[in-house]
Amino acid sequence: MTAKIIDGKEFAARVRGQVGEHVTRLKNDHGITPGLAVVLVGEDPASQVYVRSKGKITVEVGMKSVERRMDADTSEADLLAVIEELNNDSEIHGILCQLPLPKHLNEDLIINSISPAKDVDGFHISNVGLLGTGQKSMVPCTPLGCLMMLRDHHGSLSGMDAVVIGRSNIVGKPMAQLLLNDSCTVTIAHSRTKDLPDVVRRADIVVAAVGRPEMVPGDWIKEGATVIDVGINRLDAPEKGEGKTKLVGDVHFESCAARAGAITPVPGGVGPMTIACLLANTVTACCRANGLREPEGLTA
Ligand code: NAD
Repeated sequence: MTAKIIDGKEFAARVRGQVGEHVTRLKNDHGITPGLAVVLVGEDPASQVYVRSKGKITVEVGMKSVERRMDADTSEADLLAVIEELNNDSEIHGILCQLPLPKHLNEDLIINSISPAKDVDGFHISNVGLLGTGQKSMVPCTPLGCLMMLRDHHGSLSGMDAVVIGRSNIVGKPMAQLLLNDSCTVTIAHSRTKDLPDVVRRADIVVAAVGRPEMVPGDWIKEGATVIDVGINRLDAPEKGEGKTKLVGDVHFESCAARAGAITPVPGGVGPMTIACLLANTVTACCRANGLREPEGLTA
């Protein structure tokens, strides 16, 4: 079998289009502009790139973008004060604190200080609890993007066997919860799982979120399964020239694509969907804050 390539770039453009249409309606019909605030503490180069591109895309879909940059040695009290200010700002509907934070700051404390209604990353303990009990919540962006792609490809996921490799709070656990809420039979595999190849071979849906380059080979994949590769790993690529690098996922793309029914590439799969879902969550948060109908298809 040669897999269908699930084009995350194209899908994300579609989601951004839907978000943009909804933003226009909110502005024209209700005089409301959704606003997203991103807080960045310190000078981590990767975080700076993410924050810049989030701000750019936010403005492109017509939303208000606010960036709050703070020094690496910012105190917990000063950071909490900024979050409190944003919590109370009626023009801000989504707040995201870029992770990782410098070591002296308590990440859990900071995340749980964001108003749950504005927690567009979906990491607040209240949102984790709401998702876990199948209630309306803010859903973490990366797993939400994976779910959208799976629903788009399969329609109903009910009764399918899903294996999520990785149990992080950001990807693995919420992904498993979303699949369970969609009536999959879910296995969460991790670094201590026995016979991982056999566990993965049972799956109709495989979501790999490990952070190990090309760890899943094609012979772990059941014929016709759908493979969602969350991993982003940078490897040296001397074949492209001296000092050049390339991005690969957690699955070995060629061998998995030869057996899967559908597969996401890296780059161009899950990655672009993550930012699109951040925008979707901001519009959802804005609608909920104003008691308005939420956009269809942009939430779990
Ligand atoms: P993490 O390090 O927090 O978690 C990795 C998980 O993999 C752990 O639960 C661990 O138990 C499991 N694991 C480690 N070694 C394993 C092994 N040999 N066999 C089975 N399981 C094993 O990572 P994370 O934050 O969940 O991210 C995972 C990957 O996804 C990374 O490559 C990250 O860069 C990527 N990521 C991508 C996006 C995106 O937008 N596409 C977003 C978040 C994370």
